Amino acid sequence: MSAAARPRVVILGGGFAGLAAAARLPASVRVTLVDRTRHFEFLPNIHELVSGVKTPRLLRLPRDRIVRGAGHRLVRADVEGIDLAARRVHVEGRRPIPYDALIVALGGVNASHGVPGVESHALPFKSVDECARIGRRLEDLARAGGRHPVVIVGGGLEGVEALGEVLRRWRRRDCLRVQVVEARERLLPEAPASLDRHLRRLCRDHDVSIHVDARVAEVRADSVRLEDGRVLEAAATIWTGGPVAPPLLAASGLAPAPGAWAPVEPSLLSTADDDVLVVGDAAALPEPLGKQAYHALDMGRHAADNAARLLRDRPLRRFRPSGKPMLVSFGDLSCFLVAGGRALAGPPLGAAKEAVFELVMAQLDRRPLLDVAPAVLRRAQRAGLELLWPALRSPASWARMSHVSLLPAH
Ligand SMILES: Cc1cc2nc3c(=O)[nH]c(=O)nc-3n(C[C@H](O)[C@H](O)[C@H](O)COP(=O)(O)OP(=O)(O)OC[C@H]3O[C@@H](n4cnc5c(N)ncnc54)[C@H](O)[C@@H]3O)c2cc1C
Repeated sequence: MSAAARPRVVILGGGFAGLAAAARLPASVRVTLVDRTRHFEFLPNIHELVSGVKTPRLLRLPRDRIVRGAGHRLVRADVEGIDLAARRVHVEGRRPIPYDALIVALGGVNASHGVPGVESHALPFKSVDECARIGRRLEDLARAGGRHPVVIVGGGLEGVEALGEVLRRWRRRDCLRVQVVEARERLLPEAPASLDRHLRRLCRDHDVSIHVDARVAEVRADSVRLEDGRVLEAAATIWTGGPVAPPLLAASGLAPAPGAWAPVEPSLLSTADDDVLVVGDAAALPEPLGKQAYHALDMGRHAADNAARLLRDRPLRRFRPSGKPMLVSFGDLSCFLVAGGRALAGPPLGAAKEAVFELVMAQLDRRPLLDVAPAVLRRAQRAGLELLWPALRSPASWARMSHVSLLPAH
């Protein structure tokens, strides 16, 4: 089939969902993927940059290699708008890109929840560069001497993982005093309450205080003010406010209002337009689904199959999310597996989180096995040195490493 006769699929966003869709679409379709950044970043492990057990290089893959390796075209540019009526995407500094089917995989943006001072004074926690910067800032404080207050805003998955990495690197140096602020009633509210108690026990011997049911009213250069009037000193404030919908979704008519995710049918087809599928964090399914990388990968693959069906006028298939356990690491102190309302806890589970990271990176990296092998070995060697060696060096740490427990259901 000539290039001009091949149907055109445009994918907006080359994160987990967008890349999974691109990898699945056959060369019989003309695929263009648009993303503003050069590298894919493995977000579920970026907390490890705070302690330095991973380097930026280990967490990134060049997006052009993945997309071109799949036989498709990559455009590196900012998406500025989607013209649904004309079936065209507007990108910065280029001619509009026409499509026959569009897959929107733009993820979310950092939520400041309208709190004053977040943009100017808090350290965001949503990219490789941002997490590496947090690590440098905390190390500067540690080297300055004395004991410095650090506030982590958010006690969900990201906040707990950030806390674990701070404790991994600095707890023996007695230089940081950490305060965690969570608006909901406990740490990791999506997990059983026993996990909150377990986390508090792990923090007991360290300089950590936890404030739940506490909302931040303002972030200042040297403190964080809570809505109840308390002021927490902060030499550094780490902001893990979770994702909100990118403005483009509402501006293009795919979401009903600013800040809303894009509603989709069970097939992932947009409820606003019959030529558009929305996947990953950007999509709001009729049955709400956790905003997780592993769901985004499945949705990307499913949307690719449904885009191919759409182009052939075939009925679309329903997306059936598979149950995905949540793996939450807590530095070198523990790791938790949360599934079906129960939680397992213990340092050996960290190996499972590392294995998932290695597997997904190797799957996304589309080079032949022999070419990928050195990168896998480099990552595995680094993981062995940085993650396992401290755990194996003394009998006390062997005992800790071999211990996994099932926490109570409540
Ligand atoms: C710190 C952190 C820890 C996490 N931990 C876990 C975890 O342990 N387990 C888990 O399952 N999930 C985790 N997540 C969630 C997971 O990363 C997301 O669910 C996943 O990244 C969503 O994939 P996506 O493809 O929808 O969006 P993203 O991965 O966010 O990709 C969106 C892409 O769109 C591009 N883009 C956005 N807007 C534009 C634009 N206007 N123009 C051009 N390009 C644009 C971006 O550059 C990006 O590459 C974590 C997230 C964070 C931030």
